[in-house]
Amino acid sequence: MGRVSGKVALVTGAALGIGKATAQLLAKEGAKVVIADLKAAEGQAAVAEITAAGGEAMFVELNVGQEDDWKKAIAAIIARFGQLDIAVNNAGILYSGSVESTDLDDWRRVQSINLDGVFLGTKYAVEAMKPNRRGSIINLSSIEGLVGDPMLAAYNASKGGVRLFTKSAALHCAKSGYNIRVNSIHPGYIWTPMVQGYTHDTVDQEAARQKLIALHPLGHLGEPDDIAYGIVFLASDESKFMTGSELVIDGGYTAQ
Ligand code: NAD
Repeated sequence: MGRVSGKVALVTGAALGIGKATAQLLAKEGAKVVIADLKAAEGQAAVAEITAAGGEAMFVELNVGQEDDWKKAIAAIIARFGQLDIAVNNAGILYSGSVESTDLDDWRRVQSINLDGVFLGTKYAVEAMKPNRRGSIINLSSIEGLVGDPMLAAYNASKGGVRLFTKSAALHCAKSGYNIRVNSIHPGYIWTPMVQGYTHDTVDQEAARQKLIALHPLGHLGEPDDIAYGIVFLASDESKFMTGSELVIDGGYTAQ
């Protein structure tokens, strides 16, 4: 018996990185998994991997910042699986820029994916979960939602927003008696395509990676599974007394 057996789990941004590892672990722990992403080919490949391993999964093409996409996605999930129990609002983008170098278009692009996407994902998940009076929603914030970085103005703002929006939604759901929990996760640097792309922007990628490693007292970067294990804990009934909480998984980054 898996830790989330019989549950239906949606993971946004699950074609790659942390989202993909999370979808795989949720499937291994018995959930039927919905992989939602902009990238159709990679998303379908992730579904095929889960199916080949004996799990059940479907792909939904979705831009998390587009409300119409959410309406279609939820309808497709209910048509296929009949319910939604777990939603992981994981899709996000990293943008490097200070308050001076970030222009308004880049600022809005980051907020439209990282913040609007989490808002819409939570809103539509609550609507789908409410009739069954159960659910767990996990929103990907970051250590960058807890501490500032001079070169991550828009990203800091989006992830700080996710942190407090999660608490607002958690309180609303708790006080409404929905039995829907909403928590945030705060990873340190994890070696995914997002961070690999970030270090590619610099002249010496290995030097950039070493600089990131030095920020983590444990002496290495995280792996996608390090975050997936935390997400599965929050998704499962093991965390049934947790809502509005922040789960920090950062190799000691924010302990300093
Ligand atoms: P990634 O870039 O490796 O993968 C992100 C996935 O999201 C991709 O499959 C991409 O296609 C998808 N995506 C991007 N924009 C989308 C959109 N508008 N709609 C739907 N899908 C979209 O990223 P990752 O490193 O796996 O990060 C996942 C989440 O974790 C993000 O929210 C990120 O901010 C957060 N996070 C990552 C790290 C890290 O170090 N990697 C640290 C802290 C927080």
